Amino acid sequence: MAAQFGGSALNQKTILNHPVGLFVLFFTEMWERFSYYGMRAILVLFLTSSIMNDGWAWSNEDALQLYGLYTGLVYLTPILGGFLADKYLGYRNATVMGALIMTLGHASMALETFTNTFFYLGLVLLIIGNGFFKPNISSIVGQLYKDGDKRKDGGYTIFYMGINAGAFLGILLCGYIGEKVGWHLGFGLAGIFMFFGMLQFWFAQKIFGNIGLSPKKLAEVQPTNKDLNAKSGFTNVEIDRLIVIVVFSIFTIFFWWAFEQAGGSMTIFAKDFTQRTLVGDASNIFNLVNTIITLVPMIVLTVVLYGLFSKMLSSFMLSNLFLGASFAIIWGIVIWMIVREFSETATEIPASWFSVLNSLYIILLAPLFSKIWSSKYNPSGPVKFAIGLILLGAGFAFLAFGAWGIPLGAEQASVSIVWLILAYLFHTMGELCISPVGLSYVSKLAPIKLVGLMFGFWFVCSAVANYLGGKTGSYIDKISEAYGLSNFFLIFFVIPVLAGILMIVLKPILIKKMHGID
Ligand code: GLN
Repeated sequence: MAAQFGGSALNQKTILNHPVGLFVLFFTEMWERFSYYGMRAILVLFLTSSIMNDGWAWSNEDALQLYGLYTGLVYLTPILGGFLADKYLGYRNATVMGALIMTLGHASMALETFTNTFFYLGLVLLIIGNGFFKPNISSIVGQLYKDGDKRKDGGYTIFYMGINAGAFLGILLCGYIGEKVGWHLGFGLAGIFMFFGMLQFWFAQKIFGNIGLSPKKLAEVQPTNKDLNAKSGFTNVEIDRLIVIVVFSIFTIFFWWAFEQAGGSMTIFAKDFTQRTLVGDASNIFNLVNTIITLVPMIVLTVVLYGLFSKMLSSFMLSNLFLGASFAIIWGIVIWMIVREFSETATEIPASWFSVLNSLYIILLAPLFSKIWSSKYNPSGPVKFAIGLILLGAGFAFLAFGAWGIPLGAEQASVSIVWLILAYLFHTMGELCISPVGLSYVSKLAPIKLVGLMFGFWFVCSAVANYLGGKTGSYIDKISEAYGLSNFFLIFFVIPVLAGILMIVLKPILIKKMHGID
């Protein structure tokens, strides 16, 4: 029987109708995002904490500037990492190299108590490592599917759940340990899982068969590949499709520019303008809800892990050993944290807690969106992008409404937390229409020789957006003083909605330029 997926014979086994290799990538990416978002969650808190609290006592402005620079650069290096992987390294080697460099980065940061240099060296290593890792693991996902396989969109959505499972656990656990036990332990924890994730990928990579080998190796095992590489020039169809990738990528700048307010102005809104102190029943209910939302994703992930073990435990023993060990440690920390929190009588919801909602909503809603994409209600790519931008704008409309009564220039208020909870819900639905879908389009529209580079370009647009988002967010006080906080949030309603409308206008041209790729 002909193989239905790319990769080795073992990769033909399925979990949830997708190749098992997808779940190897799911967990590798999960640990990497655990490290990325876990470290990111405590970066600004660490820098701005007082010396007495083992921080560096930086001003908000300085800390946010470094944060903006870091989150921008992290998405800039993928263009180089993607290019090098296409041309020389191959996606697999590049992924492993990236993971190793990032492990060293986290280790270096964990040593910040000895000298500041370790901290900065750590950040640089993370920026470089991510450049090798992020575009290339994303490329491998697409190659697990044969051309035209309708399951590719769903595959990227599952992969995106892995991203957010990692973000969820990383923010929750590194945040908790960093804030309540010690910063360097939080940084170190991020590194341990990055390392285990790398080993898990390394020992399982034979499952990918020829996928992701370096061009040189590929030419040895598949002589036809030599001819492909020798061919130069692009056909018009390829150029048209590249233009579509560029247009989609540029539209993501509008999306992430507003979306990434989460870590900046939306966190400030949570911190200073919402009612976060809960006592008595409210505190108990919050603790209960928080426990449920921690345990449910853990249980879901453990079931997926079991599925993976049942398909490939005997063939890739070492890989699964590292994966299992990581899970055992995480379960231990989760239980310890829950028991510890229940002993408190009043609760102050941490300002950073709301951003965890984003990952949680993704994990809960991704299966639904994946179903819609494979049903008869599946809209075309440009329409998905437009809906995503409009949903994002709608989320900000809730914030603008919630902030309506806050007087000009007020420094504090006690607005209901409902507005943030709704805003994150709409932002996440928008994200599901754009981000995993976009990854899938890059993989489908780029010629095979340029997949890494095009993923690099996709992420470079995130770099621009992160940088501009941070810059715009830093004007929150000035704009609120002059026009009110509500009008500040309205900016993020108007611009994405206009971009969404523009996308609808461009739809016929884009569909034509995709030349039949849906
Ligand atoms: N949240 C997603 C991730 O961490 C997408 C980030 C992006 O493309 N800007 O991978």
